[in-house]
Amino acid sequence: MSGGSESAVSRETEAIDDEFFPVPFDGISAADTPIGAAAHRASQVLHPSAADSLPKPTERRIFTVANQKGGVGKTTSTVNLAAALAVQGLTVLVVDLDPQGNASTALGVPHYSGVASSYEVLLGEVKASEAVQQSPHSERLFCIPATIDLAGAEIELVSMVARENRLKNALTAAALGDREYDYIIIDCPPSLGLLTVNALVAAKEVLIPIQCEYYALEGVGQLLRNIELVQSHLNPELHVSTVLLTMYDGRTKLADQVAAEVRAHFGDAVLRSVIPRSVKVSEAPGYGMTVLDYDPGSRGAMSYLDAGRELAARGHDKNQGNE
Ligand code: ATP
Ligand code: MG
Repeated sequence: MSGGSESAVSRETEAIDDEFFPVPFDGISAADTPIGAAAHRASQVLHPSAADSLPKPTERRIFTVANQKGGVGKTTSTVNLAAALAVQGLTVLVVDLDPQGNASTALGVPHYSGVASSYEVLLGEVKASEAVQQSPHSERLFCIPATIDLAGAEIELVSMVARENRLKNALTAAALGDREYDYIIIDCPPSLGLLTVNALVAAKEVLIPIQCEYYALEGVGQLLRNIELVQSHLNPELHVSTVLLTMYDGRTKLADQVAAEVRAHFGDAVLRSVIPRSVKVSEAPGYGMTVLDYDPGSRGAMSYLDAGRELAARGHDKNQGNE
């Protein structure tokens, strides 16, 4: 893992985006320069006004972030969306259900073997509230970390009673304690095994991140079939509410083709906000941070803020509509 050395921080120009400084001549204010504009955006992210607060959902929303394809941005989207919701006033719990523990790393939460984690929670050895840790960068962002012990859980769960329901049973309001979480976001491993099934049973909504690359929809059919199976046998309320396009590179035609294909396939479930490919986004976990903390004025941070806003507004609109 990297330390905080300045040299390790990229000098990429992503924050220097033409739209923010169209008039490069003398006499412009600080906010019109690239650095000034980035600083201005960062300050707005870090000190949002009360008017920027997101609506609280009428009931707690539980998302499972799933796609058995590896490296598509599940963890990155989990932690950055969680941070985006938290910075805008909501209380969020991330459940790291991947033995790799990448979400725990990105949230700056210790997850060495022996720490109370999602493994003990699944096995019923500790209450969920006892495994929750606060992310050091936000007073409203919390995490149940994953340790390497979770790697054995996939097999250990097989012989257990109610093996598919263990996470759901562990995340009851009573087990979560006094803190009111507005959102719970569960980060899944890149497989459709029992850990992912537990996450699908515990959630109402599935968020599928899709990378704007070749073979983007590969395996998605299988994921959808698994979701249907869980729906019909274990969790009738489950639905794919959200699809998020990640690692979008506007310079390539391919990215647009993939985006169009995904929108044709999933329709309104696809968020309008798209996450660009961004070095800042990929660097942040190396510092135990989300991109919102690492570089709050960057395009990556802005895109996750937008996606978080959209997510919250949709849940709110839907709840209003149901009333
Ligand atoms: P796994 O299946 O292994 O759990 P994942 O689906 O959780 O992977 P991530 O770990 O979030 O995927 O992302 C995979 C890699 O891509 C990571 O190195 C991450 O830093 C990088 N990455 C994710 N999103 C972006 C982005 N928007 N721009 C640049 N790099 C990104
Ligand atoms: Mg991951």
